[in-house]
Amino acid sequence: MVSNKKFMVSLATAATLAGAGYVTVQNVVPNVGIQNVQAASAINDYIANNNIQPVSIQYEEGTFSNWFGYDNGVGKPEGVVVHETATPGATARNEVTYFNREWQNMYSYVHAFVDNNEIINIHNTDYGVWGAGPTANGKYIQIELCEVNSTDAFARSISNDAYYIASKLIQYNLPFTPGTTVLSHNDVSQRYGDTNHTDPVGYFSSWGYSMDQFYELIGQYYNNLKNNGSVTNGGGNSTNPDTDTGVTDSNTINVNNANGDYVPIVAFQDDGSVKNITNRALMNKTPWYTDKTRESNGVTYRRVATNEWVSTQYVI
Ligand SMILES: [Zn+2]
Repeated sequence: MVSNKKFMVSLATAATLAGAGYVTVQNVVPNVGIQNVQAASAINDYIANNNIQPVSIQYEEGTFSNWFGYDNGVGKPEGVVVHETATPGATARNEVTYFNREWQNMYSYVHAFVDNNEIINIHNTDYGVWGAGPTANGKYIQIELCEVNSTDAFARSISNDAYYIASKLIQYNLPFTPGTTVLSHNDVSQRYGDTNHTDPVGYFSSWGYSMDQFYELIGQYYNNLKNNGSVTNGGGNSTNPDTDTGVTDSNTINVNNANGDYVPIVAFQDDGSVKNITNRALMNKTPWYTDKTRESNGVTYRRVATNEWVSTQYVI
């Protein structure tokens, strides 16, 4: 949900530094109180197993006419806030129509609405909106997830939501750091105290879903988009969830191959052995979001995509 505090304050913020074609995480504010990613999500598995693909982002300028830059400047958001509309039955298109008509009365506006069928971006994300209180409005892109009525629709809607978020992180050369560059409105309320909203936590839980599981999905999309421009959450062979060891931890790793031009990756086979992936690799000295650890033949690997793993010998 959006909130109606429209006034901004300026706060000094940690810089996130972008290089040519990749990002660094050395200046990112450390995560505080972010729980580890949960092992399994039936919804994420459903998305992977059914090869659900996000739709493309529609850009159409809305009526919001209060143009202001972020604390760090125009075109310098620090991340994305995840909202949920709490309006059963309203599609993304319904919400766009409503907010374009009523924002001056509600003192609220967001960058985008997403449902199971559409991703509609209605305000240039180089500029801020009025969605989560004055502090967050000066820092973050804000997207509203619309409520749907079936598991399939929910899976499609969060696929679209995750894709939009991952795309925006990459557009602005931001790392994916759960709880820092991607936050729930609930996180914003707890961190800054400007609002008391808790979305989308309650709506997610009504589907047996959590922010940690959503972070896992965003991380997959983010890595795949960065690695090969793909919007799928798979990379070649899909992993059978039952064969994963289930050892999970939320983390960002930096990888480098001191003896080569790139960092090789592998895929796990059904028998637990690994096979080199020969057509893709990770750039040296790049950060990757990882959510699982697995071993083969005494070598420990960290997962960077659905079935793409990097040996910890390259983690620096
Ligand atoms: Zn909200």
